[in-house]
Parts: sequence; structure tokens; C-alpha cells
Amino acid sequence: MRIVLLGPPGSGKGTQAALLNKALGVPHISTGDLLRAAVAAGTSLGRQAKAAMDAGELVSDELMLGLIEERMGADDVAAGYILDGYPRNLAQARALDDVLGRIEMPVDNALSLVVDEEQIVARLAKRSEEEGRSDDAEQVVRNRLEVYREQTAPVIGYYEEKGLLKAVDGVGSIETINQRLRSALG
Ligand code: AMP
Repeated sequence: MRIVLLGPPGSGKGTQAALLNKALGVPHISTGDLLRAAVAAGTSLGRQAKAAMDAGELVSDELMLGLIEERMGADDVAAGYILDGYPRNLAQARALDDVLGRIEMPVDNALSLVVDEEQIVARLAKRSEEEGRSDDAEQVVRNRLEVYREQTAPVIGYYEEKGLLKAVDGVGSIETINQRLRSALG
């Protein structure tokens, strides 16, 4: 199973990727989690990424490519992967294809969680209260959604053209959505 999980911030990608990881036994690779860990650990990557993350902007493609190349080179990826949060723009989608081509592990499913923007804003406001993630603050959320619309949404078309896209309704209970994703995977 070589999966890319797509969808706006707050669409439930992280939650669903964790469930798919349990069910399928392939690693869940979240670039957001990797970056937050790097920031918490105060690594060079973390120091370089922090300002963009705090502003709800994308971290540079160059830094992200280094991170993804390193992670995709780890042994556990032999089993497959569930990518969550990468690629975030068309340049990253093309770079990812290069990396995956080199290791002969191309994407075989792009799952897109579809949730309308009103729901997203409500969910992120709730997550901000519950988890206190600084980039869930209202102004930063607005920016993340704009970045999503302008830069990330075109990635859906990229996988659609390749015939890999499966759009899944992302509204409902966590379990219901998980069932939909698993039936989309076949
Ligand atoms: P996430 O947890 O996926 O919402 O990511 C949190 C933040 O990390 C994003 O708002 C970006 O600042 C940064 N980030 C995560 N993945 C990427 C990526 N593929 N490209 C650029 N920035 C990213």
C-alpha cells in the first residue's frame, strides 16, 4: 500500500492516517509531525522551518525535499507508506515522483478527503481549544486555508490526471470515514 492522503487542514488526514497505519501496518509519514518534532528538538531544520509554520505558510520546497528524501530512505518504507501533508504543491508532487521512482515505490492511491470550508473552520477552532496548536489560531487558519486553495488543491488534479485519485466524503464519524477510505482502497 503506497498512499498519499490529501485534503485541507482539519479534514482529518492525521486521524485517518493513524487508523490506516494500524489496519494496514504501513508507516504513517506526517511531514507536519516531523517538522513539529524538529522544532521541539531545536534542530537546524526546526529552526529554519519555524517561522513559516507559525505564519501558516509552506516551509521551502528545498527543506521539505531533504526531509522527505531522508524519511523515504528508511527501512520501514519497504512495507509501503501513508503520506500525510506531503506533497503540498505541484513542485513537491513532481519531486516526490522522482524520489519514489528512484526507490521503485511509486504512489498507487491518492485519497482525497472532501470537507467543505465551513466545517473546516469549525473543526480547526475546536482543535485549537482542545490541543492548543499555535497554528490553529484564527488568523493563521485563514492563511493556511488560502495556501491550501492556491497551492495544495491543484495537487488533487495532478493525481487525477494520473488516474490515481479517489475522492472520499470526509464528513461523518471517524469510523464511517475510515470505512469509506478502506473501501476506496479496495
Ligand atoms: P500539518 O500538520 O500537515 O498541517 O503541517 C503543519 C505546518 O507544517 C504547515 O502549515 C506548514 O507550515 C508545514 N508543512 C507541513 N508539511 C509541509 C509541506 N509538505 N510543505 C511545506 N510545508 C509543510
